[in-house]
Amino acid sequence: LITLGIETSCDETSAAVVAGGRKILSNVILSQTEWHEKFGGVVPEIASRKHLESICAVVEKAFQEANVDFNEIDLVAVTHGPGLIGALLVGVSYAKAVAYATKKPLIGVNHIEGHIYANFLENDFEPPFICLVVSGGHTHLIHMEDHGKYTVLGRTLDDAAGEAFDKIARALNLGYPGGPAIDKIARMGDENAISFPVAQIKGSDLDFSFSGLKSAVLNFLNHCRQKGTPVKVEDVAASFQKAVVTALVENTIEAAKKTNCRVIALAGGVAANSRLREEFQKRAGDSFEVRFPPVKLCTDNAAMIACAGYYRYRQGFLSDFSLEAYANLKLF
Ligand code: ATP
Ligand code: MG
Ligand code: FE
Repeated sequence: LITLGIETSCDETSAAVVAGGRKILSNVILSQTEWHEKFGGVVPEIASRKHLESICAVVEKAFQEANVDFNEIDLVAVTHGPGLIGALLVGVSYAKAVAYATKKPLIGVNHIEGHIYANFLENDFEPPFICLVVSGGHTHLIHMEDHGKYTVLGRTLDDAAGEAFDKIARALNLGYPGGPAIDKIARMGDENAISFPVAQIKGSDLDFSFSGLKSAVLNFLNHCRQKGTPVKVEDVAASFQKAVVTALVENTIEAAKKTNCRVIALAGGVAANSRLREEFQKRAGDSFEVRFPPVKLCTDNAAMIACAGYYRYRQGFLSDFSLEAYANLKLF
């Protein structure tokens, strides 16, 4: 079964052709970063416009690379939320048109479920496992018991992990997107230089909170500027990153213990973070197995959407032409 996946929820226009749910025949990702970086973040109007300009060429390239054409696909899978409404609408409208023209089934996919499914691409990994979803807009600790079966064990009460990386990077003038920039510069810094607080939430020990950490870093920077003390950007980046990584790793290990799960999987853009991967490997030791998708599949791409769509379809789900885009679509 060949699936065409379409992803336009934020600032990547992506199309992928995936065989049998897991084998990537092509995965074309066109990032709009150059159009947004001068504004320090994604501008929704620009995102929609760029998706509209690129979607046809991106899909064409995906078909070309896969050596497949419209008549050979069996299923069309598209992200229909959560994300930017105008951006989502481009993908959803395009996917509906393809499904209509080719008379092939259409399936709407939750973007966060897509991130989780990046773990299944190119291997034979299966649930159950604990999944830490850490992306630009979400931070969830999930027990995935089976395909389509999720229990949320913890979530952020304020900022998402990726959002924290992006905001701190902005305060350190490291540009957009901030995660990769902090990851890179932190390698040259001392992560024990500054002790930033890791939030402990009373009564909900698997939840996260990053707004206190964000304020602590901003206060530290203001303090230095007022006193005229030079700021060692690499030390601040490394110390901030350490605090985030500690919170993420500790809660995830705790969740795995509580649910008697031996396997932990990471998902979402922040799962690309080298320090996070390293710390998970270290903390897991022989007690847990830690998995993460290749860096390129952690951030937004259509192959993960095709994979998630394939499994939804196999569970008997199907969308029709009334499929809508939802900015706040919930999975759980
Ligand atoms: P969501 O998936 O929640 O809708 P999104 O699609 O914008 O949000 P992703 O594409 O999953 O988010 O990930 C982008 C986020 O990942 C950004 O916040 C970015 O800074 C962060 N990120 C990417 N690479 C790294 C890295 N190496 N270290 C830390 N953060 C990273
Ligand atoms: Mg992006
Ligand atoms: Fe995403």
